[in-house]
Amino acid sequence: MSKGATSRHIPRKRFGQNFLVDDGIIAGIVDAIRPQRSDTVVEIGPGLGALTEPLLDRLDHLHVVEIDRDLIALLRKHHQPERLLIHEGDVLDFDFSTLGSKLRVAGNLPYNISTPLMFRLAAFASGIRDIHVMLQKEVVERMVAAPGDSAFSRLSVMLQYRFDMEKLIDVPPESFEPAPKVDSAVVRLTPHATLPYPASDETVFADIVSRAFSQRRKTLRNTLKGRVPDATFARLGIDAGARAQELSVADFVRIADAVAAPA
Ligand code: SAM
Repeated sequence: MSKGATSRHIPRKRFGQNFLVDDGIIAGIVDAIRPQRSDTVVEIGPGLGALTEPLLDRLDHLHVVEIDRDLIALLRKHHQPERLLIHEGDVLDFDFSTLGSKLRVAGNLPYNISTPLMFRLAAFASGIRDIHVMLQKEVVERMVAAPGDSAFSRLSVMLQYRFDMEKLIDVPPESFEPAPKVDSAVVRLTPHATLPYPASDETVFADIVSRAFSQRRKTLRNTLKGRVPDATFARLGIDAGARAQELSVADFVRIADAVAAPA
């Protein structure tokens, strides 16, 4: 789309609209994705097309999910539906499984919904080949944090359970228009071919992780009171006096499996 279109659209804060304007960063993201012509790719939040257009240069066809009707109208004006298929609506309601089983996901995400969106993408991981997304840098650091790091959190455990993750590019505020107040980073998520530590009941696993991190300063004995007896911690060899951020993903799975099928 022309730069004129960019200047005519007034960015909407409620949709997290910070448009990429740095050609070097845009090229870096597209190179990291390495699109092949026949790949099935969906871009979340195409906006004014900063990533959409270079992606379309390398692809036969591209899906996009966009919520802003004004932006959708602009995209429709500039692109043929045979090449760009626009899914109008909230990405938090989008059924990614309708796009096949080797889906590649890309986007400069609206930061206000980034955590629920990453959880939603995790639910579709079995049909996803990879994900390249721009997020708030602090969120990316939480995603890739290791046990013991202060950034290790519920998001780290739940995403590391399903994905291998790599931080790729740091992006400063000046690369966007308007500039966000925070630093950003691009991260690649690749679903594990086989889950390294499969939980016997993933609902129980998610519940244990959520409770354990609900009060970071409290010990596991406290946060999991009523769910995990001291004897279970002792049997698993896990210190009940530890805090959630000290445990590995495998430890959480062992606790969840013990809760799902008590000895
Ligand atoms: N890709 C463009 C770029 O890099 O310049 C725009 C990125 S902007 C950070 C986020 C985009 O996501 C905007 O186009 C916004 O309208 C769209 N968006 C925000 N919330 C959304 C939602 N819930 N569902 C779908 N799209 C959404």
